Amino acid sequence: MSLRVVKGDITKLKVDAIVNAANNTLLGGGGVDGAIHRAAGAELLEECRTLGGCETGEAKLTKGYRLPAKYVIHTVGPVWHGGNNGEAELLRRAYRNSLEIAREKGLKSIAFPAISTGVYGYPKDAAAEIAVKTALDFLKDYEMDIILVAFSDGDNLRYQKQIEESYGN
Ligand code: ADP
Repeated sequence: MSLRVVKGDITKLKVDAIVNAANNTLLGGGGVDGAIHRAAGAELLEECRTLGGCETGEAKLTKGYRLPAKYVIHTVGPVWHGGNNGEAELLRRAYRNSLEIAREKGLKSIAFPAISTGVYGYPKDAAAEIAVKTALDFLKDYEMDIILVAFSDGDNLRYQKQIEESYGN
């Protein structure tokens, strides 16, 4: 089983793909999206312009350009509107579809930021639970090195706790 948590900046990771918590335009934004575009360089935005945006819950692949990662998988998580608007399923699909793209491309390692938990306002504990469960579910059928990147100590603890609980079940 290869799910682990790494604390730090996702743009520094030398993995096959890092996942970007993008918005529907795929034309860049703040948070982790801004950090990824800054680190990858202007060519990333040029490629993103050719993709025609991305629906919430879907994912699209680009090259990594100046990043240490070979590819970027851009996905769009839901904006939190209270929890009764399909948010959980959309967040699950954002993780799952990113993993499916990695699998189709034959990638061996993938790193995720905590999708939707920044400006999109998804409650962090609930989001961590979906991230861990969706990753473990995928790993039942496929081999991959899945990294959940914690940007803060709080996220780190949250993921560790969630992983312990999921193995216990
Ligand atoms: P969203 O719009 O999906 O909420 P944000 O970028 O606002 O996306 O935040 C998503 C998560 O990414 C937050 O938990 C934030 O702390 C984290 N984050 C921001 N920058 C980085 C980075 N360089 N590496 C890893 N995680 C990051």
